[in-house]
Amino acid sequence: MRVVFVMIDGLRPDALDLADTPTLHAIMARGSYTLTGQSVMPSITLPCHMSIFHSVPPARHGITDNAWRPMARPVTGLMETAFDTDKRCAFFYNWEELRDLSRPGSLAYSFMVNAAYQIEYGDRLVAEAAARELADFDFSFVYLGTVDSAGHFFGWMSDGYLEQVTRVDAELAKVVDALPQDMALIIHSDHGGHDRFHGTDLPEDMTIPWMIMGAGIRADYTIQRPVTLLDTAPTVARLLDLKVPRDWEGTSVDEVFA
Ligand SMILES: [Zn+2]
Repeated sequence: MRVVFVMIDGLRPDALDLADTPTLHAIMARGSYTLTGQSVMPSITLPCHMSIFHSVPPARHGITDNAWRPMARPVTGLMETAFDTDKRCAFFYNWEELRDLSRPGSLAYSFMVNAAYQIEYGDRLVAEAAARELADFDFSFVYLGTVDSAGHFFGWMSDGYLEQVTRVDAELAKVVDALPQDMALIIHSDHGGHDRFHGTDLPEDMTIPWMIMGAGIRADYTIQRPVTLLDTAPTVARLLDLKVPRDWEGTSVDEVFA
């Protein structure tokens, strides 16, 4: 299998039924999901993404805010592992702080427009670029940053936030429509939020939706086991048939495989 991993930054699971989200609901009907996935502490974007791509908690990778620095004890990341197995990987994103999620040399393609704060079009640029290009790659990371921006601008679960969830669901449809038959889709958020911020261990910040669909993935299935951000990379590794690095602490969500 090949894999597309879509991140909707700052998406709370309880927004799915309050916003208009036909795309996300179709993914749940066609695939497996949990609405009680867990972020990591601190529930901040770059620490979360380092945990997603290295399958270790912030206490291990050492990134505790949105400033990247080299790991004191480096952990082999998903992109380096994929590159070592001759996979062609691509990033499509709109928040430049994520540039260090992979080490130089491991990506075949990168599309970055620094537009996560442009709530009207920031995610459209990324979704359309991904839809155009993703068929060429074994793994694509598609990062949509505007829902988080709307949370910071208007407040989590406010009308402005929910309108942005609706808008991004429509952009997501462009990516889903472009998926070739041999590609699985994983989609989740990194953290939720409350008031106008996140980063705490409150359930509003920590609880995330986590979904997967594709050939060989159970349909309309609620995942029973606990799922955290650390489990994404091992699940991608199973789909791509990669050797899992020794340091990874998460586990593949095996029950989603039919
Ligand atoms: Zn975030």
